[in-house]
Amino acid sequence: MISCSISGRVLWVELITFVKNIAMTDQTATLLSKSDLTHSDLITLLNAQGDLRKNLFARAAEIKNKCIGNKVYFRGLIEYSNICSKNCYYCGVRRENHKVERYQLTDEEVLEAAQFALDNHFASIVIQSGERSDHKFIDTIERLLCKIKKLSDSRLGITLSMGEQTEETYNRWFEAGAHRYLLRIETSDRELYSKLHPNDSIHDFDARIESLRALRRAGYQVGSGVMIGLPFQTIESLAHDLLFLKEIDIDMAGMGPFIEHKETPLYKYTGQLLPRQERFELSLKMVALLRILMKNINIAATTAMQTIDPQGREKSIMVGSNVIMPNLTPVKYRENYKLYEDKPCIDEEAEQCRSCLEARIHIAGNEIGWDEWGDSKHFALRMPDPDKVQLVDPKSINKVK
Ligand code: SAM
Ligand code: SF4
Repeated sequence: MISCSISGRVLWVELITFVKNIAMTDQTATLLSKSDLTHSDLITLLNAQGDLRKNLFARAAEIKNKCIGNKVYFRGLIEYSNICSKNCYYCGVRRENHKVERYQLTDEEVLEAAQFALDNHFASIVIQSGERSDHKFIDTIERLLCKIKKLSDSRLGITLSMGEQTEETYNRWFEAGAHRYLLRIETSDRELYSKLHPNDSIHDFDARIESLRALRRAGYQVGSGVMIGLPFQTIESLAHDLLFLKEIDIDMAGMGPFIEHKETPLYKYTGQLLPRQERFELSLKMVALLRILMKNINIAATTAMQTIDPQGREKSIMVGSNVIMPNLTPVKYRENYKLYEDKPCIDEEAEQCRSCLEARIHIAGNEIGWDEWGDSKHFALRMPDPDKVQLVDPKSINKVK
């Protein structure tokens, strides 16, 4: 298991070397100065090596700095429940993994984590869960959202990641106080999607896209993303993913390497996967390219990146990410929210995670936006009516519910 704590000089030296190496080289990068990258440009850049690779990362860093600044925003991650009605072939908490012990946090545990986020100036939380659409679950989440809003006097921003729901449910949760929602498309390639999921009505590609539309209609800042290095996935498909995310005009993104899990159907393809380090490298390029394509969205530096490379999230920040999600799930539950093998930080208390991350982000040349919601600038521009949503940091405008 990889520890989250700062583990020695070697890692620091490696991180500093990475910072130096992404400075723009003198070589002209014609491709990168194009205003619109095509599918074939994206393929070239996903395959980039040497100077082109360096220039890609440098260009993404430059765009990030220019368009959204060098601040990183914290979202305290609460892994609410691993009870799931779905059976995605890649995921360790899928319904048919009977080896995992199922749990759901109590209201008190969620409120305690929310209070921790508030006390530690995180300003936002993400509540993530297995997918359920029964009334009890929907009511519970609605009630919890109201309690969190009350506890924080509307100062905590709330992101949800609870899978596909009806438009009515999205509306109810939005009304109750959630204002961002993460729903990855996983892959924009319909054929690949069907190889990653059972072929039934609850794992339907079109329904997933329709959910993304419903989230937009409900007024959320909408996040999506893909897994990188999946079995059967090609570079062409990843290039298409980037264009898809641009096309549907997401406000936020969360992308990271696919990591195999023994108790899942995809595990049998482990021998055919790219080596983990290559999956990580591709993930960094995907982040950098998305930053170039969508200059003012929020992009998360995901935990899966840290699973492969202990400095993974910091490297992701250096090439375009601006959001990080320290884990606030009570430690006793973390073992049971293992979506994949070797998930990091499963035994570190939130306090340890916080101080470790703070130091790492400074090394990566970024600042932390303490007490700021750090909402997607892209969303603010596409949704100029502040009465429609609670998108705005309460400190900058007094129009939050
Ligand atoms: N159940 C909700 C959903 O699926 O949208 C939210 C929670 S789900 C665990 C969050 C994300 O975990 C998924 O969208 C998927 O991309 C990611 N994930 C699941 N299994 C993974 C794996 N083996 N490797 C990397 N990411 C994985
Ligand atoms: Fe459930 Fe989400 Fe895992 Fe699919 S990815 S099995 S919906 S928790």
